[in-house]
Amino acid sequence: MRDTTTLPTVLAISGNDPSGGAGIAADIGAIISMGAHAAPVITTLTVQDTHNAWRVEPLDPDLVIEQAEAVLADLDVRAIKLGLLGSVAIAQAVAGLLAQYPDIPVVLDPVLIAGGGAQLAETDITTVMLDELIPLATVVTPNSDEARALAPTTKGLDGCARLMLERGAKWVLLKGAHEQTATVMNRLFGADGTVTRHEWERLPHDFHGSGCTLASALAGLLAHGIKVPDASERAQQYVQSTLTHALHIGRGQPIPNRLFWAKRPQ
Ligand code: PLP
Repeated sequence: MRDTTTLPTVLAISGNDPSGGAGIAADIGAIISMGAHAAPVITTLTVQDTHNAWRVEPLDPDLVIEQAEAVLADLDVRAIKLGLLGSVAIAQAVAGLLAQYPDIPVVLDPVLIAGGGAQLAETDITTVMLDELIPLATVVTPNSDEARALAPTTKGLDGCARLMLERGAKWVLLKGAHEQTATVMNRLFGADGTVTRHEWERLPHDFHGSGCTLASALAGLLAHGIKVPDASERAQQYVQSTLTHALHIGRGQPIPNRLFWAKRPQ
């Protein structure tokens, strides 16, 4: 018998960052912190540190799908989080898989570029995201650069968010940290026309892995059945706490302390 009463499962489909700052390690830490079980599926290997990514190797799409299918066939997956997909072929294969599970909420973090500026995914992946993945997404979590890349001919960030809703996303959580504003303004756009603003203190660093942390925390909360507006607010609050406790673990960007709540052994 499967125990589905305690930790709901989140299937996290992402790349590996061996520094543990971003990617699947970030996903696992954030999902655990939401009281959920992380089932990690790797799409892409990267050679990476807290400065930048130096090599990116997307895996064979069949291998990605086989990993995910093994989990979906066995565990009771309550939410799916998509991070770095890496290649057009992987993105298309994942879209084909998701179409078979229309009842599982999907958080799509449209990862394109590492914090240090390295290209992490093939550039044409934006077309697959817009045409095939965004229509299946419960929430898309672009930063402003990703929003502009996904909708290059659209004027204004609001227009980019609205285009994603027109393409079928139910919600777009547009992150404002990359904009030159005194505070960080994140906005949740709903397909029902609502726009909810969340303003956060701007902290004095660029962080490595904050986007992965937010999208995964959100997926963890959705796995518990929490509705998107509430889950979005709570996931942002969690991320802000991980950033105020950030770890200067390498010589580059600090990383969110996703386990800030854990007790040190006495
Ligand atoms: N996924 C992987 C595997 C990465 O290496 C990175 C960044 O380097 C990201 C996602 C995106 O990270 P962030 O959360 O900083 O946007």
